[in-house]
Amino acid sequence: MNIKKAAFCYALSIIMVLFTSCQVMSSTKSIDFFAMDTVISLKISGKQADTALTQTKKEIKRLEGIFSNTIEHSDISMINQNFQADFETIHPETKEILQLSNHLSEETNGCFDITLGNFVKLWGFTEETKRVPSPIELQQAQQHVGNAHLKLADGILLEQQIQLDLGAIAKGYITDQVVNLLQQYDIDSAILSIGGNVSVIGNQQQPFQVGIANPMQPDTLIGSISVSNCAIVTSGDYQRYFEQDGIRYHHILDPKTGYPANQGLSSVTVICESAALADAYATALFVMGLDTGIQFVENHPEIEAIFVTKEGQVKCSTGIDSQFTPHSNVQVIS
Ligand code: ADP
Ligand code: MG
Repeated sequence: MNIKKAAFCYALSIIMVLFTSCQVMSSTKSIDFFAMDTVISLKISGKQADTALTQTKKEIKRLEGIFSNTIEHSDISMINQNFQADFETIHPETKEILQLSNHLSEETNGCFDITLGNFVKLWGFTEETKRVPSPIELQQAQQHVGNAHLKLADGILLEQQIQLDLGAIAKGYITDQVVNLLQQYDIDSAILSIGGNVSVIGNQQQPFQVGIANPMQPDTLIGSISVSNCAIVTSGDYQRYFEQDGIRYHHILDPKTGYPANQGLSSVTVICESAALADAYATALFVMGLDTGIQFVENHPEIEAIFVTKEGQVKCSTGIDSQFTPHSNVQVIS
């Protein structure tokens, strides 16, 4: 395959938290670092902000070492090599994330599916070199993708050749773990941004204003939402992709075909209490497309979503509509 001009782009400015003066207090401490193949940006306010930041960074690195399939001795790498593991030999967090993923896969009718590791490898999204696989390669890999190949009973059992990939849920799950950890410290508020996953916590009087990126121009916004104590996660076709022969190939794959999901959406932002759920659902809704996706969200009162179509139109679920302020030139569908 002749890749003439392959570019790999990764937009960092996925969601921005727009500060208001009351939220940036004198005791606010922040750090930025790189982990989980993305930029992590943490801001914590309160008496124990320094200690909380240090412990948070440690916890993120610890969990990355358990979940990453590019780190040699992680739980997921071991499972991918041996196709099995006892629950006693893996971390309790691995058991929990696998059980949750299994459930979410069933609930989303396979639109979210962590067994698609073979597809991700073929596209090279976790490698230096990205490429378009041949239809035959994808068809062969298809036989080794599907939630039915993953059994969770006394331990984990994978059918031979199945490869797990937690890329669509690990960042969210880790954010939730950090939110739990922060409860041990005397802090007033926190803004955790892990790639496209943002969680805002705190008891300030005014809600946070969180900007949602415009997928067509990711350094601009389509609007902002007013929220507190929740996770806001975006999956979009502009976050990780490469271009070949004028076609953009992005990293959100349809597990039923192995090709980048192409249901007319450019991004989906999910707002809910749990970052793990927001992360997984944002990916799943992107694969579902607008009509099925909005129906799914309206049937799940615990989640809200903002869809942006390839044409730049914006559709909000009922529960978030009144908290979304669109920018003036943005077309909102009712
Ligand atoms: P990001 O990683 O940029 O936050 P997502 O949460 O949508 O974006 O996750 C995309 C990653 O998850 C891909 O890089 C791949 O590793 C994996 N993935 C892609 N499509 C799916 C899918 N349909 N279900 C589960 N995992 C997926
Ligand atoms: Mg996701």
